[in-house]
Amino acid sequence: VAKKKGSTEKLLIWILVGFTLGLIVGPLLGKDNVIWVAWMGDVFIRLLKMLIVPLVFSSIVVGVASIGDPRKLGRVGLITILYYLLTTSFAVTIGLILGNLMKVGVGMKLGEGLQFAGKQPPSLYDVFLNIFPKNPVAALANGAMLQIIVFALFFGIAALMAGKKGKLVLDFMDSVAETMYKLTAIVMWWAPFGVFGLIAKVVGEKGYAILLPYTKVILGVYIGVILHALITYTGVLALLARLNPWVFFKKAFEATFTAFVTRSSSATLPVTMRVAKEKLGVSESIASFVLPLGATINMDGTALYQGVAALFIAQVYGMHMTLSQQIMVVVTATLASIGTAGVPGAGLIMLTLVTQSVGLPIEGVALIAGIDVFLDMARTALNVTGDLTGATYIAKIEKELDEDVYYA
Ligand code: ASP
Repeated sequence: VAKKKGSTEKLLIWILVGFTLGLIVGPLLGKDNVIWVAWMGDVFIRLLKMLIVPLVFSSIVVGVASIGDPRKLGRVGLITILYYLLTTSFAVTIGLILGNLMKVGVGMKLGEGLQFAGKQPPSLYDVFLNIFPKNPVAALANGAMLQIIVFALFFGIAALMAGKKGKLVLDFMDSVAETMYKLTAIVMWWAPFGVFGLIAKVVGEKGYAILLPYTKVILGVYIGVILHALITYTGVLALLARLNPWVFFKKAFEATFTAFVTRSSSATLPVTMRVAKEKLGVSESIASFVLPLGATINMDGTALYQGVAALFIAQVYGMHMTLSQQIMVVVTATLASIGTAGVPGAGLIMLTLVTQSVGLPIEGVALIAGIDVFLDMARTALNVTGDLTGATYIAKIEKELDEDVYYA
């Protein structure tokens, strides 16, 4: 065990080395030459994505079957969704408070922003209908996460109900899930190179100078992200779950950081699941259900960012946002974050829903589009850390947390 721990720590150190080198090498290579190292990051993302579908499907089937009792399944589902909604609305509130206090948009001149492609966000009805799969194979092939979750839940319950005849399916899925966890560990050996390539690409293409006019709004989002982790997550872990939060953040770091550089909760999901199971001691049944759901619907960072961004836009345009408008932002940002896909830049598209709901100019979104990658990194890191906090808390109250593993 001691040897294993040493190797994970070494990996994390190498990931940080890759990150630091990327920060230096990216701008040196510049926009035109960064491709020479950017491929390492693109390969990393592909390898992570390769893991998602087989891992999520097999582990949910196994997880559902091991819960066994449908009543417990319903209870866990309800707690998970309530927990996610509550923490997300907290996050927007923190974003709004910071946006007000820091006056994030004051002093910013109009016309400094870049062009924004203005993609249409999906309607709420489509978001709802899209939960239900009509063709499970298509859902798997397209990586439609919610549909995969729903089909896997049904499939697992049915295999359980089939009794002796369903056992083969469950044993097979168990074996697939274990293999995928091992494969995740293998892919992570590429992480230092992947992180290097990803971060070099971002700073190589953008440079650092672009950040300057946006210092206040960037600080607003980053401070908000740290505060939400320190207040909300530490509170949940220490007070509600009675666990040492420091241990949590240290162990979660591998997933938090992967989210930070990939800017995708979905791509990070295999890492998140492995961290939950193997490092935090969350049971398969809780991890396999709470985390894929979280990667799809729970976006505290995205919601927090939307709170800050709404005030940024209002202040740039010299508009005053009333208290009731800000409460409206809490509601729409919480709902919009559910419909936000766990892919890079999705939160920016959903920001148009939030600005529309309170009558802010849509062009305001274009103002911060140019630096979105930097905000996306922070919000995705928080999104994933929030999923892990939820899984740990729910595992603890459902007596599905192995504290020997947590404190190992
Ligand atoms: N990139 C974020 C995620 O994957 C979503 C967003 O753009 O806010 O969690």
